[in-house]
Amino acid sequence: MSAGRRVFLRMAGRAAVATAAGAALGCAAGLPRRHRLGIAIDVRRCIAAGGCRACIDACHRAHNVPDIRDVRHEVKWIWKEPFERAFAAEDAETITSALRGQPVPVFCNHCDNPPCVRVCPARATWARDDGLVTIDAHRCIGCRYCVAACPYGSRSFNWIDPRPFVAEPMVRYPTRTRGVVEKCNLCEERLADGKLPACVEACPERAMVFGDLADPASDVRRVIDERYAIRRKPELGTRPQLFYVI
Ligand code: SF4
Repeated sequence: MSAGRRVFLRMAGRAAVATAAGAALGCAAGLPRRHRLGIAIDVRRCIAAGGCRACIDACHRAHNVPDIRDVRHEVKWIWKEPFERAFAAEDAETITSALRGQPVPVFCNHCDNPPCVRVCPARATWARDDGLVTIDAHRCIGCRYCVAACPYGSRSFNWIDPRPFVAEPMVRYPTRTRGVVEKCNLCEERLADGKLPACVEACPERAMVFGDLADPASDVRRVIDERYAIRRKPELGTRPQLFYVI
C-alpha cells in the first residue's frame, strides 16, 4: 500500500467519528465537501472474472448479512445485476454487446444528494461530512420510508430475525434485529481502522478503486478522469458516488 493511500485511509478513519454535524452544517447548506468518499468500478475487469462473488462474500461475511433464500425476506448489501438493468437509462450505443447481459456489482451509491436521508423521520440515517451515508440501527423505527425513497433498491428491511441466517457471526460487527433497515456502510468500521472496504480488498481483479473523489491526486479521481465513467440513474439528481468505468 502506498504512503499516500495510508495517509488517506487514516484521514477516512478519523472522519468516521465526525459524522452528522458536518453534513448538517456544510453539505446541507450546499457547500462542497472537503472529502468525498467514492469507488470507481472497472466493469470490464469485473466481467473478466466471470462468476466471481469475492466482493459479495467478503462484504456479507464482514457485516453479518444474513443468507436468506426466500426473496420476500432477502437482505443484501452488494449484489450483481445485468449491465442493462443496472443502467437502464444508458442508450444502446453505450451498451455494447460486450457488456449486455454481463453482471455488474451494485450497492449503495452513497449519493451526494440522498433521498433516503431526507425522508427518515427518526434521523436514523445521514450523510457524514465525507459523504458516506450511514444508518444507526438502534434509531431505526422500521417505517421503511428510506427503502421506498431509494431509487436503487439499495436498502433491505429485516422482515424476520436475521440472526439465525448468519452462518458464522463476525463478533466485531453487530448483528441486526427484525424490524430495522440495513445497507452497505462503505465499511466505515474498516475505514476507522485504516483498512480498505472489504469488497475493494477482496476483488481478485483489482476492479474497484476506493478513495477521496475531492482529492485531484487520488487514485479514484485519476481513474475517473482518465476513463469514460457512468453513474446509475444520473437523471434523478441523486449524484451517486459510485462510478462505473466502461
Ligand atoms: Fe440512499 Fe439509495 Fe443513494 Fe444509498 S443508493 S445513498 S440508500 S438513495
